[in-house]
Amino acid sequence: MYLSRLIYASRAADGLQPHDVERILEVSRRNNSKAGVTGVLVHGGREFLQCLEGGREALNTTYARLLPDPRHAEVQLLEYREVSRRWFPDWSMQALPPGLLTRQRLLRYGEREVFAPTRLSADNAAALLEDLAAELRAGAEEREAAASPSARAVEPDPAGLLRRLRSLRPSSPPAS
Ligand code: FAD
Repeated sequence: MYLSRLIYASRAADGLQPHDVERILEVSRRNNSKAGVTGVLVHGGREFLQCLEGGREALNTTYARLLPDPRHAEVQLLEYREVSRRWFPDWSMQALPPGLLTRQRLLRYGEREVFAPTRLSADNAAALLEDLAAELRAGAEEREAAASPSARAVEPDPAGLLRRLRSLRPSSPPAS
């Protein structure tokens, strides 16, 4: 299997509602998990940016199926390439959690502070997705570390800290 990544941008259909996007994600998760496809769907303003990762055949089949979907239009293929690892290995298809498309991040990869992936260069769209993937990974690692028993063991123990501080107090100078 040749692991590949496909990135495209498209315009959302007029009148598309959040529940329509939810429905797209629900069906995508079901289909993608069966096909070994992972990725992220970023929806903001009136546009989509999607990253799909998986075997070549599975990616082509998925892309061919979603291309004519009337819930979006003007689909622009930005990148298709073989890769050595996935950026979103744990996501059969998720929406980006809110708050990650910050003004600074959008300006780093585009000329505007609004999310408009159809106007991004292919390189910048890919760099934005890689950056988002890294942020998601860091968040997941932080949550994992906070939940692990070893992390809890090093949480400060105020009583123990006080005992240690007392033991460090300089002893009074010897009486002359
Ligand atoms: P079904 O199980 O029949 O599911 C299709 C369901 O989608 C229908 O029941 C209906 O509720 C809904 N639906 C289909 N067409 C419309 C429509 N025109 N208007 C409203 N609701 C409709 N599919 C994937 O498998 N993986 C993806 O990663 C993926 N990403 C997508 C990203 C975008 C931006 C869009 C617009 C669509 C995406 N899709 C994706 C959906 C894809 O276009 C197909 O609708 C879906 O793959 C069909 O799945 P199915 O054959 O299992 O059909």
